[in-house]
Amino acid sequence: MSKLSTILGLLEKIESVDIAVHQERCVVVRNRNASCRRCAEACTSGALSFTSDELVVSSELCIGCGTCATVCPTCALEAQRPNDAELFAQSLRAVESSQGKPVIACSSVLDTIRGYYDESHIVEVTCLGRLEESLLCGMVANGADTVYLVEGACDTCPHTTGHTTVSLVCDTANSLMRMCEHEDSIELVCEVPDFALRIPEEGRCCSTGVSRREFFMQLKDGIKTTAVTAVNAKSDEYLGSKTDTVDARYKKVTRDGTLPHFVPNRRERLLDWLSVIGYPACEAIETRLWGHIGIDERLCTSCRMCATFCPTGAIMKFDDEDGVFGVEHYPTDCVHCRLCADICPQGAITISHTVPTAALAEGLYDRFEMAAVKDPPNQPKSIYNRMYALLGGGQVYER
Ligand code: SF4
Ligand code: SF4
Repeated sequence: MSKLSTILGLLEKIESVDIAVHQERCVVVRNRNASCRRCAEACTSGALSFTSDELVVSSELCIGCGTCATVCPTCALEAQRPNDAELFAQSLRAVESSQGKPVIACSSVLDTIRGYYDESHIVEVTCLGRLEESLLCGMVANGADTVYLVEGACDTCPHTTGHTTVSLVCDTANSLMRMCEHEDSIELVCEVPDFALRIPEEGRCCSTGVSRREFFMQLKDGIKTTAVTAVNAKSDEYLGSKTDTVDARYKKVTRDGTLPHFVPNRRERLLDWLSVIGYPACEAIETRLWGHIGIDERLCTSCRMCATFCPTGAIMKFDDEDGVFGVEHYPTDCVHCRLCADICPQGAITISHTVPTAALAEGLYDRFEMAAVKDPPNQPKSIYNRMYALLGGGQVYER
């Protein structure tokens, strides 16, 4: 094989990625004690697995539905083809073309009505599990009155977690609208709305030879009976696609001894769009998206492991000049990944889904002042003792 064809082969492989993996963002890669397995639980293809230090997406099994990327709290998984930017651009075109009534439907639904809908009004996705709140709120912030999400035969679809996920995302997006005193704007519906269909004239339809009534009867039945077949066909279509991973090693530590941080783009975009939609009218909101931590000072030993491993920097160390120290928690950056609670050696951290809206709108935070480092607990091989020694805290505790 020539060098050119080798290079072309490699480029083709890169372009065929359905899901991009950011190993350094996965909380399990950051710390193997993390309990998060949301992606693997959502993936009905069994395409996701963990080795000793990386998250692996099987290209043979992945159908590119994007549900794993929606449920991942840290955006360690990113859907491609289309990526978020491309999907958002398509969605905005549909908002404009439909005069504020865009439709998003999965391929299984649209396969049953090809040629009978206005493509400019409809965005096609492999699975509705691909949709998340920043996309939907972004459409509303950019002029959509109602976004219609068309479910197919999701209850019998082999990838039914996409249905569970989109239902939750739909509820969350509408809760966020209500928080901003905006009416619910996301509707989960069973059929493509009439206005988006190209309905045959009364009498016989010239292209199909069926009547208008027969056309709709077939449409309804077709959606029910062919959805599963279509999804399976989609799986075959993706068979053999390749998914690259990046280097799993994640050793760099910042100057204050914490691992590098990032805030998922989707979260930042969502907050931007919400600020366009309106200002929070309630004091607190409960969603799947953000977390609000509490630290039990009776249990906490001031090791600040939570700040070391928090992937987004939602927990930050502070060390004041007067000797007061501790951690601050910024709910707006907290993605409710649970890593802090999972790795706290004392079990001192609790996380709530209910977040004060002032934290989201104005960046308010909590400050937890801590006592001077106490003697390590009487467990020589505890995570605390090993990390305490590793980070220069002295000898591992011995009896
Ligand atoms: S952080 Fe994301 S990629 Fe890692 S286990 Fe959780 S859902 Fe999966
Ligand atoms: S504060 Fe805890 S739950 Fe929130 S992002 Fe950081 S590690 Fe995850």
